[in-house]
Amino acid sequence: MNDKTPSGSPVETDCVIIGAGPCGLFSVFELGLLDIKAHLIDILDKPGGQCAELYPEKPIYDIPGLPVVTGQGLTDALMAQIKPFGATFHLGERVDALGREPDGRFRLTTDIGKQFLCKVVVIAAGGGSFTPKRPPLEGIEAFEGTSVFYAVRRMEDFRGRDVLIVGGGDSALDWTLNLAPIAKSLTLMHRRDEFRGAPHSVEQMRGLVAQGKVRLLIGQATALSGSNGQLEAVTVKTKSGDERLSIDRMLPFFGLTMKLGPVADWGLNLNENLIPVDTEKFETSEPGIFAVGDINTYPGKLKLILSGFHEAALMAQAAQRIVHPDKKVLFQYTTSSSSLQKKLGVR
Ligand SMILES: Cc1cc2nc3c(=O)[nH]c(=O)nc-3n(C[C@H](O)[C@H](O)[C@H](O)COP(=O)(O)OP(=O)(O)OC[C@H]3O[C@@H](n4cnc5c(N)ncnc54)[C@H](O)[C@@H]3O)c2cc1C
Repeated sequence: MNDKTPSGSPVETDCVIIGAGPCGLFSVFELGLLDIKAHLIDILDKPGGQCAELYPEKPIYDIPGLPVVTGQGLTDALMAQIKPFGATFHLGERVDALGREPDGRFRLTTDIGKQFLCKVVVIAAGGGSFTPKRPPLEGIEAFEGTSVFYAVRRMEDFRGRDVLIVGGGDSALDWTLNLAPIAKSLTLMHRRDEFRGAPHSVEQMRGLVAQGKVRLLIGQATALSGSNGQLEAVTVKTKSGDERLSIDRMLPFFGLTMKLGPVADWGLNLNENLIPVDTEKFETSEPGIFAVGDINTYPGKLKLILSGFHEAALMAQAAQRIVHPDKKVLFQYTTSSSSLQKKLGVR
């Protein structure tokens, strides 16, 4: 997609964590205790990875010390736990490129052209980046990033436009409610007149339809027309026949799938789409690049959240030797170390 808005100079920091799932989040904590500042990047628009995206309301029973916690509950608890370290989140961005600079630091580039320079990288990319499902419409690629978008990065891109939103879940409903006031016209299309989203959003959407501010169409898109990336119309199949809908912006929300994505292009050794690491430092084949959580592999690996937490603790010790080479690595308990407690803001 090319709705990219490159920012100015690179963000310079100690560490960039790729992926804000539970293991990326807990890495912030372990790095923070060792004075390593982190930025997190995730293609999702919220932290929590699989826990928040795939099973926010399901109970997890094997997090040490928490007899039961939901996916979202664990995410919220991790967010509270890492708060003292003030990590910066870059959500809704995918890390596309990762390479080493002549000065030994790493340069990362996201899909909107944002650049980062850092001393260590932690890949906590889980099963890969969540990627929007593409509707099966011939030639749709030609319109992606100019007329067809799978996320709203800038609401202004939709101001004064004839917008078609497709889908029946929360994203489709939320963007219908948010874009209706600024779009020239807004049509929400779903294949049946039942919505999976929050009942309150469904109610609000139906209110806008009743006021004539949103058109609700029950049907399916069958063809796109336009040229040079500019969408002009969508052919829609409805119960009463085919309709040609004049629109210039389309937002299909058909859910997400997990794909390894750009991680495969970074020159790291891979084993069946996983990154082999050692079990002392959880470092990859590239010194200074670590991998924790579901994305890594080693003998005996269990894809469990608690494994990723352990890995993050050891990774941080090794990262400290790179980020603060002159500092002595001290083993300390949070219970008794006043310096750790100061960092946590509890003393
Ligand atoms: C239904 C279900 C139930 C589960 N129950 C349990 C359980 O009871 N106990 C348990 O321990 N585990 C459970 N798991 C597994 C657990 O969720 C995973 O082990 C855990 O989420 C892994 O965490 P992670 O941080 O490594 O990766 P993830 O949670 O997968 O997060 C990785 C993040 O990285 C992002 N990302 C990847 N590539 C990029 C990129 N290039 N740029 C930007 N962002 C990127 C992704 O968008 C994603 O948000 C369950 C999983 C599922 C699906």
